[in-house]
Amino acid sequence: MEERVERQFVPARVIFTNEALAYPLGKKLWETFSGLGIPVIRTARQDVASLIPGATAREIYQEAKRTLAVGVRRGTRFETCRPSADYQLPLVASCPGSCQYCYLHTRFGRHPYLRAYVNIEEILARADRYIAERHPAITSFEAAASGDPLPLEPYTGALKTAIEHFASQDKSRLRFVTKYVNVGSLLAARHAGRTRTRLSVNLPGVIRKWEGGAPRLEERLEAVHALAKAGYPVGFLIAPVFLFADWQKAYGELLDRLAGEWRSWELPEETTVGEAGEKEPSLTLEIVSHRFTARAREAIREIFPQTSVPFEQECRSFRYGQFGYGKYVYNRELLNEMKAFFSEQIARKLPRARLEYIV
Ligand code: SF4
Repeated sequence: MEERVERQFVPARVIFTNEALAYPLGKKLWETFSGLGIPVIRTARQDVASLIPGATAREIYQEAKRTLAVGVRRGTRFETCRPSADYQLPLVASCPGSCQYCYLHTRFGRHPYLRAYVNIEEILARADRYIAERHPAITSFEAAASGDPLPLEPYTGALKTAIEHFASQDKSRLRFVTKYVNVGSLLAARHAGRTRTRLSVNLPGVIRKWEGGAPRLEERLEAVHALAKAGYPVGFLIAPVFLFADWQKAYGELLDRLAGEWRSWELPEETTVGEAGEKEPSLTLEIVSHRFTARAREAIREIFPQTSVPFEQECRSFRYGQFGYGKYVYNRELLNEMKAFFSEQIARKLPRARLEYIV
């Protein structure tokens, strides 16, 4: 069998805050990147954006996507993370990819530089307090709420640390979603079935046109197969779903392909979680329709002036989201049609999988 080749993200520069260098992981990252000959910068300032070169919005964006800021995650609260999980687990932010429709355009605007937090033990201790406060309810955490955690994993090992931490935390679940395929370091991690790993997938045409720098669908399917073989409960996140002409045919074919892959792996339909031997469906699906904010639309048009990402307003409704900003979502009629379509297709093509939500 051909061996999977894992490409690694290499930043153009790494900026460290002084306080990050007081942590062992901060020191280790400084040595790693210096050893690789990558420019390392030490700063007392929190204003990393001012250290990133570039004259135009597009240049600044491109340079930001090649810049890693290493810092300390402060604050005593985690953001909530509905519908994916109870809380966000802030280990990293942003990612080196250039998906034109990226949901992070709203949050990071022109400065989507990557962030890695070095105080992982403190972050996990905070998660433990949430678990204790909510006991005996299960508390779930999403490690990919503010970016993709895989590209930085070869350097920080943060995700593996979190997976092994939650493996022994009763009443906890960890989840993360990724488009990246460097999952090798996670395969031998002790996870006890408590971490669900999901791959974000879409139509090959969407990936080709709008997901610059992200791996192809075939590579993502290989990665999720490797994770499933390693005993992780897994999932497919189909996002964002674009409701263009003939969308039913295109997404129906994608579901055929996912269902065919899943069947061909011949893996158990249920996964055992923790020592108590609780059972969960091995495969889940999540479906997210395309949405955008006015701020994101403005940033996308500035960075990708030729973009063909659809921002048509006639089929959209305006809604206020979790963080108080308004977003354009497909109108009720289209969303209902989409929900009926995916519910029926998934029940028929992947009957043992759990459909978590369609939004
Ligand atoms: S991989 Fe995810 S986080 Fe990264 S650019 Fe694409 S949508 Fe945004």
